[in-house]
Amino acid sequence: MNNCELCNRAQELTFHHLIPKKNHKIKHIREKHNSLNINTYGIKICKDCHKMIHKLIPHKSLALDYNSKEKLLNHNDLKKFIQWVKSQTKKVK
Ligand SMILES: [Zn+2]
Ligand SMILES: [Zn+2]
Repeated sequence: MNNCELCNRAQELTFHHLIPKKNHKIKHIREKHNSLNINTYGIKICKDCHKMIHKLIPHKSLALDYNSKEKLLNHNDLKKFIQWVKSQTKKVK
């Protein structure tokens, strides 16, 4: 099993598109990321982190402001969540 790229816990991972597909239609976003393969550009993260990202950050803001792992890790509330989730060791659902 691999570790989540955000919280670093060994979890079942899901793929998060750093540039959400919805935004491919927006011209300046597409042009900015022309050299990238947007379909495969993303990070593998656990379901908890993934859920929290989408809860905290709207799609448009993800594409514009939080389109890298480093930027996501600098999001205040997400940072707090990651710290919290790391302290929850192997909790059974
Ligand atoms: Zn995680
Ligand atoms: Zn996602």
